[in-house]
Amino acid sequence: MKKMGVIVSNLFLWGLVNCSVLSLMAVCLVLTHITIISVTVFLHRHQAHRSLELAPSVSHFFRFWLWLTTGMVTKEWVAVHRKHHAKVETEHDPHSPIHFGIHNILWAGVRPYRSSAKCSEVLEKYGQGTPNDLIENRLYTPYHFLGIILMLCIDLGLFGLVGGTIVWAVQMVWIPFFAAGVINGLGHYFGYRNFEPPDASTNIIPWGILIGGEELHNNHHTYSDSAKLSVKWFEFDLGYVYIKMLCCLGLAKIKRTIPLMPSDADTEHQILTLITKCKMNIIDRYRKEVIYHLVHNSVPKDLFSRHRISRHQLSRWLHRESNFLAKYKLTKLEKILKTQPILNTIYQHRKQLSKLMHNNKIKKSELLLSIQDWCRQARKTEIKQLEEYSQWLHELISLNSQRL
Ligand SMILES: [Zn+2]
Ligand SMILES: [Zn+2]
Repeated sequence: MKKMGVIVSNLFLWGLVNCSVLSLMAVCLVLTHITIISVTVFLHRHQAHRSLELAPSVSHFFRFWLWLTTGMVTKEWVAVHRKHHAKVETEHDPHSPIHFGIHNILWAGVRPYRSSAKCSEVLEKYGQGTPNDLIENRLYTPYHFLGIILMLCIDLGLFGLVGGTIVWAVQMVWIPFFAAGVINGLGHYFGYRNFEPPDASTNIIPWGILIGGEELHNNHHTYSDSAKLSVKWFEFDLGYVYIKMLCCLGLAKIKRTIPLMPSDADTEHQILTLITKCKMNIIDRYRKEVIYHLVHNSVPKDLFSRHRISRHQLSRWLHRESNFLAKYKLTKLEKILKTQPILNTIYQHRKQLSKLMHNNKIKKSELLLSIQDWCRQARKTEIKQLEEYSQWLHELISLNSQRL
């Protein structure tokens, strides 16, 4: 009887699997890693952006795992995230550090998430196409807290009172901190930018391992439909490695990656699709062929020492939307532009081009006319690089008959 009591109390304290501290740490890492992959592959890339298809078995595994480890409802997560993309950095963005403050999003990002997730209008408008089957409506949505209670019982049973509580606590804070805090906070505040979309998104670090590739948030905001989040040769997206593995097993199909500039858009519809899909490629070409070239070849050398600015910085500032440039940088840039009319011209043309490309309210038919007009104005400047770029853009958006 006494022996039985010892066994029960040992089971209660140490669980079915008697783990060392190191083994418990490894368990935490593996379990939270599965959760991270479920968020990035299933919730984010598959559900919110439809950039890949998943086999029903894989899709359901991820959904079940997220119910067990996070208590998040797919429709709520997807709706809040789509709203973030649609209203990014405005007062309607559910979690912009520019508006809410970096500390509020980093340490308590889950609060603004919850208030948006409870709004029926947000769910209705942005939550379309998410799971709507029997198990979703009868279990996962109405009893979303049941999963994490079940997970607590499993952790306590496997690792005992102390180990189980620690493993469960780590699982519970992992996603609220890394997804709601780090990605939504630091991903719009700290890091480097490959592209200049009209928001403050950044790549936190180039190696997307710990958060499964979500670290590459600037790449994602630039090409939000792409299943692959890495762009440069030195960047790494672990989530995409899992997607490729699932593809090899016939369990996933990639629908979209970063668009390449097509050379054969012949109808007006094809040209308008090209502009919508490749607008960031078009703007980025302006950076490389006009801004970079002029800053490196046509600006007097003493300007850089006088204003204590490098060529690289000046190129970046000329390409960035002014509302995402720190005030002191903008003041310095404006000072430089006053003395450099060529730089000022290419800066103003870049601003007009971005405005046109990101204008969602303009009618499609008017967009082509406006870009053609921009090209005409650019050619009048008699700045060689700008003329060449405008010629390229004019040909890109012209119908076959007009190109000849
Ligand atoms: Zn974002
Ligand atoms: Zn997204």
